[in-house]
Amino acid sequence: MIFEAEFESMRAADLRNLQSKRLAARSASVYERVDFYRSKFDEAGVKLADISTIDDITKLPITRKQDLRDNYPFGLFGQERGRISRIHASSGTTGKPTVVGYTRDDVDLFARVNARCLAMAGAEPRMTLHNAYGYGLFTGGLGLHYGAERLGMTVVPVSGGMTERQIMLITDFQPDMISCTPSYGLTLAQEFAERGVSPLDISLSLGILGAEPWTEMMRSEVDAGLGLKASNIYGLSEIIGPGVSCECVEERSGSHINEDHFFPEILDPITAEPVPEGQEGVLVLTTLTKQAQPLLRYWTGDITSLSSEDCRCGRTLRRMALIKGRTDDMLIIRGVNLYPTEVELVLGNIAELSPHYRLVVSREGTLDELWVETEVTDEVFKIVGGDALDDEVIAADEFLAGLRSRIKHGLKESLGVTAGVALKAPGSVPRSEGGKLNRVEDRRKLT
Ligand code: ADP
Ligand code: ZN
Repeated sequence: MIFEAEFESMRAADLRNLQSKRLAARSASVYERVDFYRSKFDEAGVKLADISTIDDITKLPITRKQDLRDNYPFGLFGQERGRISRIHASSGTTGKPTVVGYTRDDVDLFARVNARCLAMAGAEPRMTLHNAYGYGLFTGGLGLHYGAERLGMTVVPVSGGMTERQIMLITDFQPDMISCTPSYGLTLAQEFAERGVSPLDISLSLGILGAEPWTEMMRSEVDAGLGLKASNIYGLSEIIGPGVSCECVEERSGSHINEDHFFPEILDPITAEPVPEGQEGVLVLTTLTKQAQPLLRYWTGDITSLSSEDCRCGRTLRRMALIKGRTDDMLIIRGVNLYPTEVELVLGNIAELSPHYRLVVSREGTLDELWVETEVTDEVFKIVGGDALDDEVIAADEFLAGLRSRIKHGLKESLGVTAGVALKAPGSVPRSEGGKLNRVEDRRKLT
């Protein structure tokens, strides 16, 4: 089902008109209400009369995370404090958290866009959602919660963590759908497997997963391990939280952006100029309707591309590709630029490996060193594991050496990077305990 078909399936020309009107109105309002934007407009010589269509957006100043930090906590609010009905903060993955405010209308919008996303991912009224996104200052839990209620679902507000209890509640309450981070989806799948529960016996049939980068490889693991169809949901607290975009279950190929509220641009990471459609760059988002903390051209740092191809689901909202990573996550190893998801894609092509991995970067003298730690699957471990007979141990050593060199070769071929490879026993690479998983340890930062 489509939750708000009048907007989600709008004709392109009508959507453009709506976006143009909203951009002009929002620009006028931030000029009047937010000192930060008034001085930005004045410095750049931007006049409100210059902003009449959505294409004029490129005349507006770019807003960066540092601007939020400089105005911490409430300096970018466009409403008096008395009209703020809720405050959230980013999870602080990359430094001091940034604070965001919502008016009552913003909270309502937050619920609506999440209801849209749940419906995109296949949810219907009367289904039960097991919500394992974290509750609290983090926007994930409450965002999905309100969205599910708005759609008419039953919500189980479990929050992240306490895996034992999650397993019990899923077994007892028989939910149709789960929301969590992809890495936590893997953790849950593994816990079920360890208890001998077959994916066929898990009640879940749908998943809405996000808050961290993931790949098709991870998706197939989660789909198979939990016996469901997982769709990607994307968002960030600065813009609203989850609900910015989501994949439709019909295609699961690119996330439809709720662009009547959040206007997307893809800009070159260095020049900040727009790139042609389909090309990768930094996603920059403008909130067209938010009141408490409207942001113009917010530089998310997330790397993706846009597509306006038709979609089988009937939505006309443009789609964004899975996020490759954020610019802060990019590693530079001896001059080679690299995102962890790119390593994930290489590892995903090797059947002997589990989907768990970790990257360790260090510096020997003046040279960067990358170590990829990954696990062999249970099946491989049984064959090469400790209880092998003497002559099998020798064969196992050869097998593992061959596997290591295939991984090295794959990384060199696809990414141009030379890496050390550590093969580990199943279960020894850190798992998500509920929220976002940090897969990179950069020891260079310590020195
Ligand atoms: P923080 O920036 O502290 O992590 P947020 O909780 O607001 O705070 O996280 C938003 C960020 O999480 C996004 O900018 C993006 O980098 C990442 N993110 C969210 N959803 C996804 C997703 N579906 N795929 C990849 N990355 C995502
Ligand atoms: Zn679609």
